[in-house]
Amino acid sequence: MISHELLKNMILKNTRKIAPFKGIIYTGLLAIMACCTSSSVTAQSGHVNPWAPVEVGPLPPIASLNDGMWLKGDLHVHSIHSKDASNNSVAKIISFSKSVGMDYLGITDHDNHVNGDVAHNTWADPEFKSDSVLLLYSAEWTTTRGHGNAFSAKPYDHQRLYDVRDQRDVVVGAVKKELGIHLSANHPSGKDHFGFSYDMVESIEVWNSAIWSKNANAIMIWDDMLSSGRKLTGRGGSDSHHGTPDSPDKATKNSYQAKANYVGTPTTWVFAKARTSQAVIDALTNGRVSVSANPYAPRVEFYADLDQDGKMDMMMGDNAKATGKPVRFRVQLTGNTSPDSTYKVSVVKNGDPFGTFKATGKTPVVEFTDAPATLGRTYYRVVVEGPPTAYPQVPGSMALSGNMVGLSNPIYFNFDPNF
Ligand SMILES: [Zn+2]
Ligand SMILES: [Zn+2]
Repeated sequence: MISHELLKNMILKNTRKIAPFKGIIYTGLLAIMACCTSSSVTAQSGHVNPWAPVEVGPLPPIASLNDGMWLKGDLHVHSIHSKDASNNSVAKIISFSKSVGMDYLGITDHDNHVNGDVAHNTWADPEFKSDSVLLLYSAEWTTTRGHGNAFSAKPYDHQRLYDVRDQRDVVVGAVKKELGIHLSANHPSGKDHFGFSYDMVESIEVWNSAIWSKNANAIMIWDDMLSSGRKLTGRGGSDSHHGTPDSPDKATKNSYQAKANYVGTPTTWVFAKARTSQAVIDALTNGRVSVSANPYAPRVEFYADLDQDGKMDMMMGDNAKATGKPVRFRVQLTGNTSPDSTYKVSVVKNGDPFGTFKATGKTPVVEFTDAPATLGRTYYRVVVEGPPTAYPQVPGSMALSGNMVGLSNPIYFNFDPNF
């Protein structure tokens, strides 16, 4: 029997695709639903699950693994346009970001502090400019039901998103779609968790602030969303609010945070096709993303060789059809690795531990083989632990992140792009 809930979800899913006619269609479908739910009572014994795994149709080709560049940044930073921030002017954040080699930045001020008018506050700040750091048009959508970050390569009408913040998800989702923005669930567990449908977001903040240990529940939610078929990118964000005071008399009770949690704790890496804000957001959407403890920590790269010819065919974020043959996977740490240290690579398959491996040397590499199921979805993602990398500008962050080095996004098999 098809449950009432399931039918409602089907309707909402289809309604999203045909927004202009949704009123009519929704009413019509409600009538059909009433009919189906009553007649299905008698058809109970012949139940067929309409969502049972079927062979997935042709998938889009996998993009080049070479045609692009790794760019790093922070996707969650508050400036003085947030009322709960201190000593953190836009210019200070940008110059700091530049000094630690950031390629892009999302300054995400609380929109409720300016009644939604981010465009005439953060984005209109004369300091909101840079000749080297790509600045995203972004804001923290701060609502009664929780927080999310909006990202765009160009200015958009954020006021509209703010104005529907307490409306039903179908209303919010339609506005979000019209604005053409990337929406991301913030700190999804705990205070101000994202209390909206995850069908509205392209990514989720799986690593909020330098304090890695408090993200366990966010990772659990991510695995649940992935396991249910949602191809959702995991990203980081420092959520830093407080900069170093220019003089001792400007210090606030929170100024100590500048040395413990600031721009880059953690750092989100994206494999972008070009050095543009749009390419950063595209990569964030397609999942070619990994997160590292800070800008100097090694970057986690995760690849798969589908035909075992020794040449990698896909990377994290990519989705391929499973052939039934074994796939060779490679995890690689790039950058400031510690040659004398051992890194622990934990592989997660469909939300469950798959195995742990050890990696050493200047370019630590781990390879493993597995055959993803030919029918139904499979995903693999990795978490890397090891010695902390020094971040002299934010020295207190090392202890807070502990042995967490970085995490990858999943490599996907048989995920339905039209889910
Ligand atoms: Zn928040
Ligand atoms: Zn925030």
